[in-house]
Amino acid sequence: MGKLDGKVAVVTGAASGIGEATARLFHAEGAAVVLSDIQDERGREIAAELGERAIYKRADVTREDDIAALVDVAVAEFGVLDIMYNNAGAQGVSGPIAETPSEGFDQTIALLLRSVFLGMKHAARVMLPRRAGSIVSTASVAGLRTGHAPHIYSACKAAVIHLTHSVAMELGEQGIRVNCVCPGFIATGIFGNAFGLPPEVARALAPLMAPMQVNAQPLRHAGQPVDIAQAVLWLASDDARFVNGHALVVDGGLIAGRSWTEYQHLRESL
Ligand code: NAD
Repeated sequence: MGKLDGKVAVVTGAASGIGEATARLFHAEGAAVVLSDIQDERGREIAAELGERAIYKRADVTREDDIAALVDVAVAEFGVLDIMYNNAGAQGVSGPIAETPSEGFDQTIALLLRSVFLGMKHAARVMLPRRAGSIVSTASVAGLRTGHAPHIYSACKAAVIHLTHSVAMELGEQGIRVNCVCPGFIATGIFGNAFGLPPEVARALAPLMAPMQVNAQPLRHAGQPVDIAQAVLWLASDDARFVNGHALVVDGGLIAGRSWTEYQHLRESL
């Protein structure tokens, strides 16, 4: 018995990192999964590897037509949409505020915030008539505390958390739960992509990011995509049937406070 037997899920950003791990876990737990990304070759490869109950559909999450069509494909192929996971993203524009181009601001908002709005909007369109469904989005600890990511990225993730709270109030009354997950540092291609590396190179280098992130997190081991996938599975599944409007932090303790060791070092240096 899988936790998602008979459910139908859409996962954006499913060709890599957290999205790929979540699509694989959803599928292993019995769901039919529509994987979506702009890395078509990799997305198709993963869907083919999963086999039955998995298809790939390209969608650029900054385009409303693409998101609408993605949701419609899930319904056309599998009959319904039970789970929408708005996950695709990248670091976006970065740098000092005085040097940040306005076009970069607009593009980052489109990729990290407008995309989540579009995912919620079109998922709600098909979920409302059934008065059932679960919408999960990927926010970040950067949306809760500054200093972990560039300005505009952090602002978008904070807005994703607030949008989640607000939409959960509306859709909760209609039987649809809306939640988000706030990952800490997770070893994925996102860091290599931010340096302009080709996606396949960034993906291949992702495991090398892990040791660099160990010291940032009190648990002293790096977060892996599957750690977030497990949290998303819980939020998406009926196990979390009383959880609505929640931002689930999964960060190894990164933002809980300053570590005792660091505090000791600070005292000793006085
Ligand atoms: P990743 O680079 O491995 O995966 C992101 C995926 O999104 C890629 O497959 C990419 O092709 C896809 N994508 C990018 N732009 C797209 C677009 N316009 N339309 C459709 N797909 C697009 O990175 P990841 O770390 O797995 O990132 C997934 C989510 O997790 C992002 O929203 C990111 O902001 C968030 N996040 C990551 C971390 C971390 O430490 N890795 C921490 C907090 C939040």
